[in-house]
Amino acid sequence: ILQVENIRKRFGDAEVLKGISFSLNRGETKVVVGPSGSGKSTLLRCINRLTSPDSGKVLLAEEEVKEANIDSIRSRMGFVFQDFNLFAHLTVLDNIRICQTKVKGVAHDEATQRAYHELERVGLSDRGGAYPAELSGGQQQRVSIARALAMDPVVMLFDEPTSALDPELTGEVVKVMQQLAEEGMTMVVVTHEMSFARQAADEVIFMEGGHIVEQGAPDLLFSRASNERTRAFLNVIA
Ligand code: ATP
Ligand code: MG
Repeated sequence: ILQVENIRKRFGDAEVLKGISFSLNRGETKVVVGPSGSGKSTLLRCINRLTSPDSGKVLLAEEEVKEANIDSIRSRMGFVFQDFNLFAHLTVLDNIRICQTKVKGVAHDEATQRAYHELERVGLSDRGGAYPAELSGGQQQRVSIARALAMDPVVMLFDEPTSALDPELTGEVVKVMQQLAEEGMTMVVVTHEMSFARQAADEVIFMEGGHIVEQGAPDLLFSRASNERTRAFLNVIA
């Protein structure tokens, strides 16, 4: 359902992505791990064109992502950021409604229903009237997941969704992601949460220096990563 083919991206002199390829079938979860600066965020941003790659291509459901169809593509790719990215001046309910009504032209009542449905999925159906500042970080991140889900995405991209959270709030967000993976959502998740990788990932990709150094089933990678760099990295964070 998602194909990434030989993506390269350079910022000035630095080549940050040096030819990244992988593909994802419907319902699969890929976890991307790797040291800071290895290009993980740039990869996700190239997938949904928040950044345009220098070369290579991305296909969503066999359709190549281009400038011309970017709005349609983006409405089918949910993106969850490290820092939540909620609109501070809007209530939770409005945060979840606004993309549906503005981008997809969904009617107000239908958007409201959908918002409550997704809030229920993330365990926040009683917080629709709250403003983001009135919620904990974990709750804000769950709202941001609900907002992405309300767009009916084909694929969800997560960029370190728990790294801005206090440790005691990480679990509630990981639990929501785990539940999504179990329900068959197709997801690419950049995270250092190895418990999530072990339980939910079909495959783990280890990136370093703009390359995919190794990829494989989580058991395989955790128990006997063949690459020395991968082993060293996993030993540090696991
Ligand atoms: P982290 O784990 O710290 O989030 P990352 O793997 O997500 O790291 P990226 O954010 O993709 O890494 O960054 C990879 C490299 O590209 C870094 O050296 C970074 O400084 C550089 N970089 C990223 N975005 C830009 C930009 N817009 N302009 C210039 N350099 C950039
Ligand atoms: Mg990053």
